[in-house]
Amino acid sequence: MMKDLRSLTYEQLCEEVKAMGQPSFRAKQIYSWLHEKRAEDYSEMSNLPAALREKLSSEYALAKVSIERRMVSKIDGTVKYLFRLEDGEHVEGVRMAYKRGGSLCISTQCGCRMGCTFCASTLTGLCRNLTPSEMLSEVYLAAKDAEEHGEKIASLVLMGIGEPLDNFDNVMDFLTILSSDNGFNLGMRHISLSTCGLVDKIYKLAERKLQLTLSVSLHAPNDEIRRRTMPVAKRWPIDELIKACRDYFDITGRRISFEYALIDGVNDQPEHAMELIKLLKGMGAHVNLIPVNKVNETGYKRGKRESVEAFAKLLNDNGQNATIRRELGSDINAACGQLRRSTIKTEKGGTLSE
Ligand code: SAH
Repeated sequence: MMKDLRSLTYEQLCEEVKAMGQPSFRAKQIYSWLHEKRAEDYSEMSNLPAALREKLSSEYALAKVSIERRMVSKIDGTVKYLFRLEDGEHVEGVRMAYKRGGSLCISTQCGCRMGCTFCASTLTGLCRNLTPSEMLSEVYLAAKDAEEHGEKIASLVLMGIGEPLDNFDNVMDFLTILSSDNGFNLGMRHISLSTCGLVDKIYKLAERKLQLTLSVSLHAPNDEIRRRTMPVAKRWPIDELIKACRDYFDITGRRISFEYALIDGVNDQPEHAMELIKLLKGMGAHVNLIPVNKVNETGYKRGKRESVEAFAKLLNDNGQNATIRRELGSDINAACGQLRRSTIKTEKGGTLSE
């Protein structure tokens, strides 16, 4: 397979350009074209000699990602993207408007192999990892779209399709490139990475001491409940996961944020709240409560608004910081995996309703 220059960090690109026998300032030019001007083709790089442009076009790949569908929520203006990858696969992204600036959610894998029973992204398994170039493309295409509408992207969350820590090296290179000051220059403090709890990878991430926010999808206060919905809990028991989170905080100084999807009758009772408080004691962590999104195949449903609020109140009253996530884009299938899923179904002959 041909190398994709957009997947290379600046250091790696400098090496590559040197190996081509080109002067080193070409690396700077190419990097700027790819990540500042967000060129989509080597032929656009007008300050490179024609012969070099041709060499790049014929000897290197540049992943072609396009926005196949763009849906805007009539309720809150949230924009959902269905991205088409060069091999015909699809992933999703969501752009949300907040007072402090736009937030973009992107996918890190095509499909997912973690198997959480409530999640639409995992229903057809993992198709493949996304390359750094493809993840960057998701951001650059959404940024261009935002700019065309007088908006901008102030923060990024890796909470779309896929398990970011299951695609560790590509995600790390993607973050290095995205945050580079001669690239898109998005500061790590404006980036969140969400994981279902791959303990070994949490330690590997801690070693990098990045200033990003680590979100851990907990969704249960104990192993018994967690194993019912999250197969990863069979590999990594909750005690080991919480220990890793405490160590992560010690090593990086960054507080962890826990995701907790409330499922009616499964994990949303007062005793579950009390158990959660005990589990997270002293971590200074934040709990993000999400009334579960219904995925047709799963049969889980959310509880009443009052029970969600009661759960949040119980946590806060007992010193555990918690908020209820505001739901955006409910009319456009904005929750992760839902749109790709309906596309797959449509391709297989089902119907798609918008
Ligand atoms: N694989 C990573 C990131 C992608 S999922 C992870 O597991 O964290 C982003 C978040 O959406 C996770 O917290 C996930 O558990 C949650 N999620 C998935 N399906 C959901 C649903 N039907 N309702 C509410 N949250 C859901």
